[in-house]
Amino acid sequence: MKYKNQLCALTTKHSKSKAIAEPFSIILGLQIIECNENTDQLGTFSGELERTGTIFEVLRKKCELGMEASGLTLGIASEGSFGPHPSLFFLPCDHEELIFIDKEKDFYLRENVLSLETNYKFKDICYENEFLEFANAIKFPSHGIIIRPADWVDKSIIFKGIQSVGEFKKAFHICKKASSNKMVRVESDMRAHMNPTRMAVIGQLAEKLAHRLSILCPKCKLPGWGLVRLLKGLECTECDFPTEKIKEEIFGCVKCDFEESFRKALNTGPENCPICNP
Ligand SMILES: [Zn+2]
Ligand SMILES: [Zn+2]
Repeated sequence: MKYKNQLCALTTKHSKSKAIAEPFSIILGLQIIECNENTDQLGTFSGELERTGTIFEVLRKKCELGMEASGLTLGIASEGSFGPHPSLFFLPCDHEELIFIDKEKDFYLRENVLSLETNYKFKDICYENEFLEFANAIKFPSHGIIIRPADWVDKSIIFKGIQSVGEFKKAFHICKKASSNKMVRVESDMRAHMNPTRMAVIGQLAEKLAHRLSILCPKCKLPGWGLVRLLKGLECTECDFPTEKIKEEIFGCVKCDFEESFRKALNTGPENCPICNP
């Protein structure tokens, strides 16, 4: 095992080691140490503080926070975003990213996954009994919710991590009172410790990342060898035209420029060809 008995800092306030520690320990022999640095300065899901910079910049900064605080040279951090799926219209999806940084070997590796396994949802309600349907849909109370006034003039009025009907009622009345149109926004709490569905997706991604780190570059022997891009242009059997179908998978290293390509198929039928089947 490449990282046997080494320590790795996981920057999180939301107990993500529950999802990440096991695959990293089993596949790499690496031990995850949680660093509870305040990452809210990089932005929050619930929107009190907008995220600035690209997802990569946020991930890298978050990862470095924990590495600096712990003095460890290995770090990991996770970032999720939620919204409509880019190709399956209107279906909500969870886009998760993980970054692993090895300061000594001087490389980083990112992995991501787009999952339809999510309870991401929000609704504006006026009456308490409208909550029931929403609560069932997002698997409340095993999954937490966030409540705020729908107009949200005063950003300090927000209740997070609500996991009981009693807490909901209390928060609902405060928010309704503060709301100019008497509407209250209820939304699924997407923070990992409030959301077992999201925690499971992070776990699947951690396994993917750990597996990739277990494979070494055939040339320089650094960890993280894997798929780096796909090459389109699989030829048509009838006319040899390079179609949009995947022709090759390119595997690469996290650091050196060595690459290997693997042919996916010999060719594709004329039904996939814009010349033969326009
Ligand atoms: Zn290499
Ligand atoms: Zn053709």
